[in-house]
Parts: sequence; C-alpha cells; structure tokens
Amino acid sequence: GPVFRRWEAAFARRMPIQGLVRDSPSPEREVLQSQGVISIVGIPILIGKEYAGFIGFDECRREREWSAAEIDLLAATAATIGAAIERHRAQESTRAAIRRFEAIFETNPMVAIQGVDPLGRVQHWNRASENLYGYSAREAMGERIQDLILPEETHASFAKTLARMVANPSPLGGEEWKVRTRDGREKVVYSAMFPLLRDGCVEEIFCMDVDVTERRQLEDQLRHAQKMEAVGRLAGGVAHDFNNLLVVIGGYADLLLDHTPKGHADRLKIEGIQHAAQRAAALTRQLLLFSRKQIPQTVRFELGRLAEESGEMLRRLLGENIHVEIHRGDSGVAVRGDPNHFSQVFVNLAVNARDAMPKGGEFTIAVSRKTVLKEKDTPFPGVPSGDYVELRVADTGCGMSPEVQAHLFEPFFTTKELGKGTGLGLSIVYGIVRQAGGHILVESREGKGTVLTILMPVTAGGGEDTPRSGEEIPVTGGSERILVVEDNAPVREFILDTLRGAGYGVVGAASAEEALDHMAEEGGRIHLVLTDVVMPGIGGVELARRLRSERHHLRVVLMSGFSDDEAVLRAAEELGCVFIRKPFEVAELRRLLRRLLDGVAPSTA
Ligand code: ADP
Ligand code: MG
Repeated sequence: GPVFRRWEAAFARRMPIQGLVRDSPSPEREVLQSQGVISIVGIPILIGKEYAGFIGFDECRREREWSAAEIDLLAATAATIGAAIERHRAQESTRAAIRRFEAIFETNPMVAIQGVDPLGRVQHWNRASENLYGYSAREAMGERIQDLILPEETHASFAKTLARMVANPSPLGGEEWKVRTRDGREKVVYSAMFPLLRDGCVEEIFCMDVDVTERRQLEDQLRHAQKMEAVGRLAGGVAHDFNNLLVVIGGYADLLLDHTPKGHADRLKIEGIQHAAQRAAALTRQLLLFSRKQIPQTVRFELGRLAEESGEMLRRLLGENIHVEIHRGDSGVAVRGDPNHFSQVFVNLAVNARDAMPKGGEFTIAVSRKTVLKEKDTPFPGVPSGDYVELRVADTGCGMSPEVQAHLFEPFFTTKELGKGTGLGLSIVYGIVRQAGGHILVESREGKGTVLTILMPVTAGGGEDTPRSGEEIPVTGGSERILVVEDNAPVREFILDTLRGAGYGVVGAASAEEALDHMAEEGGRIHLVLTDVVMPGIGGVELARRLRSERHHLRVVLMSGFSDDEAVLRAAEELGCVFIRKPFEVAELRRLLRRLLDGVAPSTA
C-alpha cells in the first residue's frame, strides 16, 4: 500500500525507514499481529551502487520506535549481505569469463594463439599452436618465438614489429608471415597481433595465426593456370589458322616433289619449302604445348629408356665442359604421356643447366621407382599415395634465389638478358608434366646447383606400348570414293587434289550440313569420310556420330590441329573413328586411308 510507496521513495535515496503496520496481509505476521501492532524497519540492500531490494525487520513492540543504534547495526548487516552478493556475482562472472577464454584459447581448432613478452619469449601457447607448429606448450614456454618458428630472414622485421607495438600499443592485423614448423616444413600464416596492457604498459603481446598455406598454393596454381590459359588461347588461336596454312604449303610441296623427276634442279627448292613447313609445324606444336589444346600422342613408355636415348643429343647440346650422367632404375615400369613432349622436357632442362654452368660442371639425370605411402613421404605438396617414377635432373650450376624460384614456372619469366632467354622453357616443362598427371618440384640454393624432381604416376599394365608399324605399309593410292568435309577452302582443295592424284574418287563439302545432304543422296557410293573437327555449325565429331549411327561400318577420319580438349580424342575412340593431326604429310594421309580402306584395324594415327 501507500506505506511501501513511501518506503520505495526512501530506498531510492538509499535511506533506512521505519514505520508501523497494522493491516499486513502476510500470514506469517498473523502471530505477531495478534500480539499487537508490528513495528518494521526496512533497510535497502545495495549491490555495488545498485539498489537491489530491501530487508525488513519486523518486531512486535507496540508504539515503540527503533533506536538509531539498532538501525545502524541493521544497516551494517545489510551492507555486509550486499557486499557478499556482489562478491559472489563477480566470481560467477569471472568463472564464466574464464570458461569463455578457455574455449577460445584452448578448444578453438583453427586459430593458433601465442602470448609473448616484449622480447618475444613465449608466455602462452594454445593447442592450435601445438598442432600448427609441432611444439608442445611445455617446449615452447620461455623460448623466443622467433627462434622457434620464424625463418632467419624474417627475424629482423619481427623484432621491429614487436618494438613498434611496445612503443605504440595498437593492434596489427592482416599480415602474412612465412613460418617454419618443428619438422622443417614451410608454411604461410595470416596473422594478427595485439597488445595486452597493464597500467598503460604492454605486458604481453598476443599473436593469432591462421594457416593459409594450402590456400596460397591453390591461388598460385590458379594464377599460373590463368596465365597459361591466356597464353594458350592466343597460341591456340594462331596455331589453328597456321596449321591450316601449313597443310596447304607442306602438302603442295609434297605433291610437287612427287611429280618432279629425280635429279631435277627444282627438287632442292621444293625440299626447301618442305623443310620450312616442317620447322613451322614444329614451332606451332611448341606453341600448342601451352594451350593444352594440342592432342597429345599418349602412349605407355619408360622414362629411363627415353632419357638414355636422349643422352647423345643432350651431350651434344651441353658441350664438352659438362659431364653428363644418366642412371635408370625404372626398367619394366611405364608412365603414360607423349614421349615427344618428354624429349622436350629433357631439352629444356638441359638448356637451362647449360646456361647455369658457363664454366662447365655436372648434369645428372636419375630415373627411379618411388612409392609414396603417406603424403609426408615426399616434399611434394598434395601428392596422392601410390607408385611413381621419379625423374631427378640435377646440375652443379649457379642455382637460384628464393625469389627466382617463386616465379620459375611462369610463362615469360626469365632472368636472362634480352635474346638469351624467352622464359618459356620451364613453363612448357610444367605444362607437359601436369598435363600428363605428374608433379614437379624444384630445390635450389644460390651457388649450390639445382635439382628438379618430377614424379610421374606409374601406369598399370606393365611395359611399353610397341612402336607403331605404320612406316612399313607402302604408300599407295586407290580407287574408292572419299567425301572430304572441310570449311577452309584452300585446305579442302589441296586434300581433294592429293586424293585425286592418288586415284581416288573425291567429293568435297564445305560444311557438315552439306556433307549430310550429300550422304542422303548418294551415301551408298562413299567408302570413307574425311572430316575437319572444328567447323562452323555442326562440328566433325557430331557429324561422325550421325554418319555412324546410320551406317555403322562407314569409315570416318577426323582431322584437326586443334581441339578443345582430349574430349575429341576420346569421342573419336568411342565412335570407332580415326584421328589425324594437322598438319600431316601427304604420305601419312595416304598411308592412313589405304590402311583403313584395306580394313587394317583402325587405330588413332
Ligand atoms: P629461360 O631459360 O628462357 O630464362 P626458363 O623458363 O627455362 O626460361 O627459366 C626461367 C628462369 O629460371 C631462368 O631465367 C633462370 O633464372 C632460372 N633457371 C631455370 N633453370 C635453372 C637452373 N638449372 N639453374 C639456375 N637457374 C635456373
Ligand atoms: Mg630455359
């Protein structure tokens, strides 16, 4: 009632109050009440500075006031109670804070947190730090964090950062540090640092690290892939048109030479054209290695044998001052890839080694078998377990700095003067190895030589493919009827000329649509269809699919110097078609057609 309202006003002023209650509804008071009027004193309870309620002391003493001394005593009691509650609450919240801290510091699985003093000596080391760096908290405690996890070359800049933080205690975020784990692995962490202050001074500095090694690697790979892709698109586009030109140039030169009698003065000139066309074709092949758009001539082969066979050529390339050694321990285990590509790998690596050893030295190729059980077995990041052939190419040359190593595989990265290097050598090597499903790693120190290691997965099925025997089949013509589908008019005309010259009946079509029309009219008379792959409208693969679905035994040859990916090769295989790569030599084409028409088992040319 009104009494309490008056009391509350008094409590708000934090004052004790007393009064008489005659009509209290509380049953506990009935006893007291029966004895007379109750005299009550109310004392506010404060927790900290907050009013938290009151306690009332009731006594049955008719019309008598509480003395000041009594009220003081009661107020002191209330103050003690308030303080006790306050202490209790504070302890509760401290306990909760500690639990929260423990969860963040110890249980969090991702952020490695270390507390260090202003000299870098470890004061705190959480479980994520143990996992990331490999040192237990006990081992780390008291050690300078620099000595534990930072490579020598970053010590100075870390000390500077600590000093800066002590002088100007504000948080630092978003820096990347290269770190070293207990077992010597290098990692990259994304790191924030902030000071813990006591009386305005830095007591401890906390570092929080997130491991971003893998993400960095992926980003680097992506960036590299994008560069290769850009160069590849350019190269691929040029090479496509260029290969068509080369079919015509080289092709007509072949034809002319066929028709020029032995000993004729023009033969030399024509051979000159042929030669130039062949070199141009080799050049476009090189360019296409970038684009991954060239269809690799994939076979099973032994890397060691290829290395030995390349030995003579490499010795010539490296000169007298460089001693070449080739060891092989991979007999009987084959890898899958295009041996021509891998010859290119040897050449590119040898050229680099030669440039790195102007005063001579040693060049060693070692091929051996290698089984990877756990990822930790190799310094290669992300290599799945399995059987590999390891190719180590070592030189005793000038070696390279970490900065050079960081850019090694980028197209156009070179440290050589203008005209000496193109920066394409290693990026081609990289492209070849990755395309063949292999891995590549470089280890080098300035002045200490270079070791380049390539891991190629072993292919199931044992030994090497037997070399193709295409060369043995004599080049002859025929009288069958062949439909040539090619959108590029000069190329089409040239092929028609060639085939006509060999005695075949020929029909030309400038598109797949035209070819289908033609087949609908007089398809029964066509023995073989030779079609380009990349054409506007319906492409060669789709054309082949449609033709074969109507006439299962129709022979179809796909030709291209360029295709989007290995999908074409696979499609050709699935459809039972044969593939020939542009530019081709006249003899090669004729041989292939004859073989097919004679029913020799179709295999990709
Ligand atoms: P290029 O040889 O045209 O410069 P590469 O891609 O072959 O291009 O090599 C890129 C760079 O890598 C070279 O310029 C050189 O600095 C460095 N490099 C490559 N191989 C070696 C090696 N065996 N020893 C020392 N440095 C090398
Ligand atoms: Mg090079």
